[in-house]
Amino acid sequence: MIYADQAATTRMSEAAINTMVSVMKENYGNPSSLYSFGQRAKEILEKAREDIAEVIGASPEEILFTSGGSESDNQAILSAAELGRRNGKTHIISSAFEHHAVLHTLEKLKKSGFDITLLDVHENGIVSPEEVRNAIREDTCLVTIMYANNEIGTIQPISEIGMICRERNVLFHTDAVQAVGHIPLNVRTDQVDMLSASAHKFHGPKGVGFLYARKGIRLSSLIEGGAQEKGKRAGTENVPGIAAMAAALKEAADHLEERAAKVSALRDRLIRGLGQIPHCALNGDAVRRLPGNVNFCFEGIEGESLLLLLDDKGIEASSGSACTSGSLDPSHVLLAIGRVHDVAHGSLRLSIGEELTEEEADYMIQFVQEVVAYLRGFSPVWRDLCAGKTRFIL
Ligand SMILES: *Cc1c(COP(=O)(O)O)cnc(C)c1O
Repeated sequence: MIYADQAATTRMSEAAINTMVSVMKENYGNPSSLYSFGQRAKEILEKAREDIAEVIGASPEEILFTSGGSESDNQAILSAAELGRRNGKTHIISSAFEHHAVLHTLEKLKKSGFDITLLDVHENGIVSPEEVRNAIREDTCLVTIMYANNEIGTIQPISEIGMICRERNVLFHTDAVQAVGHIPLNVRTDQVDMLSASAHKFHGPKGVGFLYARKGIRLSSLIEGGAQEKGKRAGTENVPGIAAMAAALKEAADHLEERAAKVSALRDRLIRGLGQIPHCALNGDAVRRLPGNVNFCFEGIEGESLLLLLDDKGIEASSGSACTSGSLDPSHVLLAIGRVHDVAHGSLRLSIGEELTEEEADYMIQFVQEVVAYLRGFSPVWRDLCAGKTRFIL
């Protein structure tokens, strides 16, 4: 099998698995217990907090453990909204192609009276800092822009946006789930106030993540109960998961540059190869994109059919279409960069990791080329395009 869906989730690293197993076997105490066995679990927790803080340039007390990216996004946005409302500020700025964990939280806030501005992400899939500046109003309480997009991999000008928000005294949150462990980032130099991350996107376990919140920002809790995580997230901590997350992140950070260089070269090889297919287009900026992200639209085919045929050949990939939700609506991300519905339906995302070989990349190129030609062979849409009845867009 060639696993090319790393943006959906990643395989746990050996370091993360070993850490997790060892904590489960030997340190199953409750970190809130006062006896020494509990306190050992507490030490593991606090060591993980230090290690994670160091990787992103934060202080340990600024790291809150959560169940993953979705929870972190929810907590960051709802906390900023609560702070805003108290000061009579009910305007939030975000972008049209955020993850649903952000967009659906914003929709909920809209229903309770917030005014939401979703900025355009343009054809290249990049938010303009100038447009962020122009959108900020007296009553803006939050700007939330993702670090890198999960479908098309485009990396946003986070430090520029951070600078603008700091100048205007507006809180800035970034969903960095796709960025952490993959590209260099630092919460201080980027001037972000809150940042969300998820372990399973950087070779850690599923169901665990963290929220960075700059010192002085009052978070509201989503889960009430015990006093864990300074009263901001009740419930006995997922100690094995948290320790494994720290191990995975440390390893990712230690190898970040060499892996990013290797993966980017494979990405560009795939982009060159797939770009040979007639009537196709790369989605998102070719340069300002995650090392492992390749995303194309092929005119005249359905992304789902392409995925199923790839799966038959042992290639696990994804389409921009929201097939997981059982809906036939094309991806909101592809629509946001201006792809029309028909074109957006014919999308393919390959998100690759450092274990991919050049031979496997070439195999994928060849096979995708063949399958696209095969599917076009009996596509009525393609026949009409070729007969001149409808016009090619790509
Ligand atoms: C995967 C992902 C999430 C959700 O993270 P979970 O840990 O699965 O809840 C949020 N945002 C982005 C950009 C993602 O890629």
